[in-house]
Amino acid sequence: MKVREHIESLRDELRAHNYNYYVLDNPTISDFEFDTKLKELQVLEEKHPEFYDASSPTLRVGGAITKNFETIVHESRMYSLDNSYSKEDLEDWEKRVLKNLGVEKVEFTCELKYDGASISLTYEEGRLVRAVTRGDGFQGDDVTANIKTIKSVPLQLKGDYPDKFDIRGEIILTLEGFAKMNQERIANGEEAYMNPRNTASGSLKLQDSALVAQRPLECLLYSIVGKDLNFDSQFAMLEKAREWGFKVPTVAKLCKTTEEVMQFVEEWDVKRHDLPYETDGVVVKVNNLRHQEELGYTAKAPRWAMAYKFKAEQVSTVLNEITYQVGRTGAITPVANLEPVLLAGTTVKRASLHNADQIEKLDIREGDTVFVEKGGEIIPKIIAVDFTKRPHNSKPTAYRTHCPECDTELERKEGEAQHFCPNDTGCPTQITGRIQHFISRKAMDIEGLGGETVELLFKEGLIKNYADLYMLTKEQVMPLERMAEKSAENLVNGVAASKTIPFERVLFGLGIRYVGETVAKKLAKAYKNIDALMIAKDEELVAVDEIGERIAESVVQFFNNETNQEIVARLKSYGLQFSLSEEQLQNQSDTLKGKTFVVSGVFESIGRAELKKLIEDNGGKVSSSISSKTSFLVAGANMGPSKKTKAEGLGVPIISEQEFLGMV
Ligand code: AMP
Ligand code: ZN
Repeated sequence: MKVREHIESLRDELRAHNYNYYVLDNPTISDFEFDTKLKELQVLEEKHPEFYDASSPTLRVGGAITKNFETIVHESRMYSLDNSYSKEDLEDWEKRVLKNLGVEKVEFTCELKYDGASISLTYEEGRLVRAVTRGDGFQGDDVTANIKTIKSVPLQLKGDYPDKFDIRGEIILTLEGFAKMNQERIANGEEAYMNPRNTASGSLKLQDSALVAQRPLECLLYSIVGKDLNFDSQFAMLEKAREWGFKVPTVAKLCKTTEEVMQFVEEWDVKRHDLPYETDGVVVKVNNLRHQEELGYTAKAPRWAMAYKFKAEQVSTVLNEITYQVGRTGAITPVANLEPVLLAGTTVKRASLHNADQIEKLDIREGDTVFVEKGGEIIPKIIAVDFTKRPHNSKPTAYRTHCPECDTELERKEGEAQHFCPNDTGCPTQITGRIQHFISRKAMDIEGLGGETVELLFKEGLIKNYADLYMLTKEQVMPLERMAEKSAENLVNGVAASKTIPFERVLFGLGIRYVGETVAKKLAKAYKNIDALMIAKDEELVAVDEIGERIAESVVQFFNNETNQEIVARLKSYGLQFSLSEEQLQNQSDTLKGKTFVVSGVFESIGRAELKKLIEDNGGKVSSSISSKTSFLVAGANMGPSKKTKAEGLGVPIISEQEFLGMV
């Protein structure tokens, strides 16, 4: 087989598997087989940049950085929807529709209203060329690079699609995906996200598309706009979109009467709790597209569609007690302990109160009867107090002033919502939390040691910090509850084995606030060893890609702390990895430090991804758009003409592949 054919056939095959997995939820090969084929394609594409294709499945992993999202005017406006809340509302709307059209009867398509961020995708000749957010309805932001990483968005269509059209839909996060993301955030010492909708919407505006690629986003489609479309009803439109490869939920139903519509609404008001994603209602649309056109739009919404909003599930119950939790970073979270009550199919006993402001704003007090709602959040929230039921002797909540675990006075920094226990080296929950983080899978991954054992070791006075782990002996551990000779040996061996874990993971394991896995990697790469990092100043740190002031400040603070300095020194003396390995170092230099590159076009001797990696490994920055800050535009064959003009206009030097390679 010729190389080109081989590449094409791999692309087709991977597209089909993506479709089976992400659109049909029905994978036919294992993840491993898929990854193997993807790797094979990546290698071929790197070797043969002449066969570059903007819709290749290899682009799903992201990597493009968008600094400024370009504003794009929608070719046809993205409207809002009118809302209805009762059968009467719906019947009134039907009457208006019939009168307007001068007909006796119309049919309706019912779809679920997906609760996420609206998106408009433009396809030309079967390829995704642009993705734009709703914005204000007239114009939105170009988020194409990010959308391309969402696997259920087809980059290449199949079947009898029209030459050019826009398709609209909603970017959502599944509830499961959202919960997983939050577990990871909490493990990294970051604050959990509030709800899937805002998180989905925020994801679209991330600058690094590789981060977007890691988020379990999906795209559900509901409407096509364009000329000369080969269908004449809303229902047929959905079917067509499905045929072309889009993810269009099959719950959509054609209804002949408003009675049938109401049945659909009632059915899904119950079944929605079993859906993998959030829905806040049903969208009812006049089915006939000619009718839709005739009805047109009001200033804000189509006359041919109506949202029927589900009532948010709400119950009232008594708040027995407000307790306070301490996280491993010292953050305090107030928790409402409720009289158990059934809500949306589950028994609810606790609700998050977020922070002191929230308690004050709603005037929430112990003993109050409160309204609890399950919205987008995984943990239910208190939305209001039933003041008619407030006990006479009730007093305003005094927010806890001292840590529930160590009794240190709590602090609250300016501009922060959360209170903190500042006793980070003495507060037991923070200490065990930090050690648990240190040994966790993504950090030191210590075999033979679990979270409960850490608590036990701490309670018995055998460890006070993670450095103490390396001093433990089998004889010390054996007498502990549920320990035997074998398990004690495993523990000690597991600890010893962790000494080979690479620097970036050790750095992550230290548990510096805001330093998650990715940030740890960036810092390790930029500073190469802990000594350099420990003396880094705020302003140097923020110069590192993706390191903001908040992170920089936290890093400086961590290493200024004497206890932390001592612990790091001890860990070093035990032989943990505190610098990049020889191999990692060999591929690195500072030659391009302080320089920003934009890469455009196709290259002969090197793949684009490889080229970008070279820039980063040599200390340079890669950006996707040209600005006055760009140092060089590396131009390959078929470079976009607009990039060239812009670079010339701004006086940014344009260099060839050879010139670039000469620099490194
Ligand atoms: P709203 O923003 O509440 O006025 O609702 C309008 C939004 O609902 C639209 O911008 C769409 O993004 C969204 N939506 C979700 N599901 C659907 C659907 N099945 N049909 C039409 N719009 C939908
Ligand atoms: Zn404390």
